[in-house]
Amino acid sequence: MSRSSELFERAIRHIPGGVNSPVRAFKAVGGTPIFIDRADGAYIFDCDGKRYTDYVLSWGPMIMGHNHPEVREAVVRQSEKGLSFGAPTELEIELADTICDIMPNMDLVRMVNSGTEATMSAIRLARGYTGRDIIVKFEGCYHGHSDSLLIKAGSGALTLGVPSSPGVPAALADYTMTLTYNDPEGLRKAFAEHGDRIACLIVEPVTGNMNCVLPTPEFLSAMREVCTASGAVLILDEVMTGFRFGTHGAQGHLGIEADLTCLGKIVGGGMPVGAFGGKREIMEQIAPLGPVYQAGTLSGNPIAMVAGLATMRIISQPGFYEPIFAKTQAICDGMQQAADKAGVPFTTNHAGTMFGGFFTESESVTNYADVMACDTDSFARFFHHMLELGVYLAPASYEAGFMSAAHTDEDIEETVAAAATAFAAL
Ligand code: PMP
Repeated sequence: MSRSSELFERAIRHIPGGVNSPVRAFKAVGGTPIFIDRADGAYIFDCDGKRYTDYVLSWGPMIMGHNHPEVREAVVRQSEKGLSFGAPTELEIELADTICDIMPNMDLVRMVNSGTEATMSAIRLARGYTGRDIIVKFEGCYHGHSDSLLIKAGSGALTLGVPSSPGVPAALADYTMTLTYNDPEGLRKAFAEHGDRIACLIVEPVTGNMNCVLPTPEFLSAMREVCTASGAVLILDEVMTGFRFGTHGAQGHLGIEADLTCLGKIVGGGMPVGAFGGKREIMEQIAPLGPVYQAGTLSGNPIAMVAGLATMRIISQPGFYEPIFAKTQAICDGMQQAADKAGVPFTTNHAGTMFGGFFTESESVTNYADVMACDTDSFARFFHHMLELGVYLAPASYEAGFMSAAHTDEDIEETVAAAATAFAAL
């Protein structure tokens, strides 16, 4: 019996399903999760000592690769001064200044501890600012697990078949309007009918929670247009996309202007951090400046701030992103060729440093319905072949893959070779 299997048996005794976040549980692909001992660069090592080339990267944060020495040393140094003060530090100013400098549309920013907190707080703020209740989201987008946003959500909520979780009051769900991604007409219609009651529209500017789905330019401009016309707040959830397309976020890359932006993952360099920020007029409504309440015992935690700051320094170096973009393209091209050669119906999407593969006859995957039409059994078998061959993909077909600066061309070649074997075995 592997050490991972032993640990899983122990884990399920006192941890629900053996995991502290459901997508880790291998429920979608079968089998039991591997337990990780350590990680370095592009690799994670399980408790049996096996090495995997990692395309999950802690679900996105580790864009420089795991265990980057500069981040690690910053964390170690800072921890010698104490772990949490619950009072302001200069570090928080430095990170806020950095974020507002490099991200567009950011006048003020508030640090929190997770992406969920960032989106939940941004929604409360949008409701407080507009005095309206309805929020608009898109089917298959995931914005964390707060009640209002767990309606027809992506990621683990899709995987587990809980599109609207029990425990979310029906009365609250009534205030969440869910529309189709990449459907500008549907969007315009909803706003034409309900615009004066809509507080905000929240969206993943590139979706990574129904696998990787890219927005059309018409969809992006329609979102800005309906929000401006109706006075609704446009919230770009860049928890995943933030700093994956360059330092300016997906919004800088795609040319769409957010009113509020949510960040997470990379901004904390692997520590539990989220942030929300945006236009001064809206952000000034947050306590203690304004009446909309939001708080956090550990928010702006000094250890987390130095991890984020070290990360921001490294990704801001000229030329950081281009090689990662090229490797993202290379892995998609390689996987596509391998699938074609094996005669497996397969297509890929990629943008920036995010990518996704789809087991489908269809040539394009542009929304939730397209994603749901993919062959999840083939994915599960492919996943296990890849795992066996030392490649760690997200254990569900509704998740995007991530590339890091640490992945080498050889890593990509090995992964593509493994994919060729896995496709052939299907
Ligand atoms: N928004 C998006 C777009 C995400 O991808 C995620 C997490 N995958 C969240 C919000 C929630 O972040 P967290 O898991 O840190 O609460």
